Amino acid sequence: MKIENSIETFNSLVKRRGFIWGPSPEIYGGFAGFYSYGPAGMALKNNVLDLFRQECRYFGFGEVECPTVLPSIVWEASGHLERFIDPVIRCNKCNTMYRADKFLQENLPNLMIDGLSFEEMENLIKKHELTCPKCGNPFQNIEEYNLMLKTSVGNNVTAYLRPETATTTYLLFNRLDQDARRQYPIKVYQFGKAYRNEISPRQGVLRMRSFDQFELQMFISKEQEMQFEDYEEVKNIKLPLLDWKLQEKGINKPKLISLDTAITNKTLKKPAYAYCLYVAHYLTTILDIPQELIRFRQHSINERAHYADDAWDLEIKTRQFGWVEICGIHDRTDYDLKRHAEYSKQNFEVQMSSDSNVKETPQVLEIAFGIDRILYCLLETTFNVDQGRIILKLNSRLAPNTVAVFPLVRNKEDIKILSLKVHRELLENRIGSFYDSAGSIGKRYRRQDEIGTKWCVTIDYESLEDKKATLRDRDSMDQSRIDISDLSEIIKMKQ
Ligand SMILES: [Zn+2]
Repeated sequence: MKIENSIETFNSLVKRRGFIWGPSPEIYGGFAGFYSYGPAGMALKNNVLDLFRQECRYFGFGEVECPTVLPSIVWEASGHLERFIDPVIRCNKCNTMYRADKFLQENLPNLMIDGLSFEEMENLIKKHELTCPKCGNPFQNIEEYNLMLKTSVGNNVTAYLRPETATTTYLLFNRLDQDARRQYPIKVYQFGKAYRNEISPRQGVLRMRSFDQFELQMFISKEQEMQFEDYEEVKNIKLPLLDWKLQEKGINKPKLISLDTAITNKTLKKPAYAYCLYVAHYLTTILDIPQELIRFRQHSINERAHYADDAWDLEIKTRQFGWVEICGIHDRTDYDLKRHAEYSKQNFEVQMSSDSNVKETPQVLEIAFGIDRILYCLLETTFNVDQGRIILKLNSRLAPNTVAVFPLVRNKEDIKILSLKVHRELLENRIGSFYDSAGSIGKRYRRQDEIGTKWCVTIDYESLEDKKATLRDRDSMDQSRIDISDLSEIIKMKQ
């Protein structure tokens, strides 16, 4: 059977090779919006996280971890109880619920729905006499639907599963201020689960109800936002920016402009914020996502989250879902800290520089990555079918296995012993080696190509004599004989 380069082949690969399974629990029919990772998926995820953590250290961000369940007061203060809502239309006959903006966009593809108010959307429903796709009942009003998952703790204390890690990081502010000995900006990040009660999660892993975030926060003074040292080093770097004005003109192609130009022509307001766009872009490109598939899209005023003064999404172009947001960069101003100061009755005004006695509430700039979406985009953008051969062209630092070791035949004891020795030596050198002796050598190569293993090492009869092995490259399929004793060195060098 001929293997086609299609989305179906890709989707089946993701399950077949143990990247992502679900909706979970599959044996009970699946719960929409919840997924599991298999061994290959977790290995890929951990490799992405390792790389991100290493780079965060380079950029000077420290890591924190907070609880995922917090009492109501936190979400009252953050504004999520009141404003973390989606517009929905509910059929009052069959009770089916639709997300209003998505429903309108599907039914009125020529109109710009993004950024419309509830009232404007209601008017469109009336004007076009839109009805329930299930039962034909005319639609009426748009309702507010809160996206937080509610729970109760202990003796019926109402609490919510966090819809973002960010808020929980802000709750640590006075601790962080002491810990940093008032040296600003304070840079921290948090990785962990967040939960959103999506109305009708489609698009597979892109709209999960339980998902992983990796959110970087910078607490910074107003003055530093405008005069930011690190910005000077990166200001000539060009990024693909699609601002709101371009979008209003119906333009979808970003402009490649330097951060300096973007600040001068007021596309971006603050150098420190521009620097955050740079960091987001840098972390994306080190994953080897091709430049031409990346853009920054600015939110309209209506699209912005309630806390944001400016917001841009870093988006990746996918085959299956079009442009997908993998990171949001938000200028949250002093909104969060002021609200938490008010609700907790704490004082979050601090002296932010040694040469000024002025106290102020810090501003917050945020770079918020969705890790699961990154994984999806990595899998999709590295997926290739070349003459019937499926290959994931993952960066060798990210692939679940770095190397796979095969004995040419499985029933020859000497070959098996040498193969296992080679495999163990690679592991001892902390190289991600995988041992496989099952099936024909051709099938074993295919299996590794399909999960992105960059190199395969085969031990054959000759290896017993000359102590050499065959090293095969995933992309070129070139094979070379190399000394077994040099193997770890060579792999480390190529990596
Ligand atoms: Zn209905």
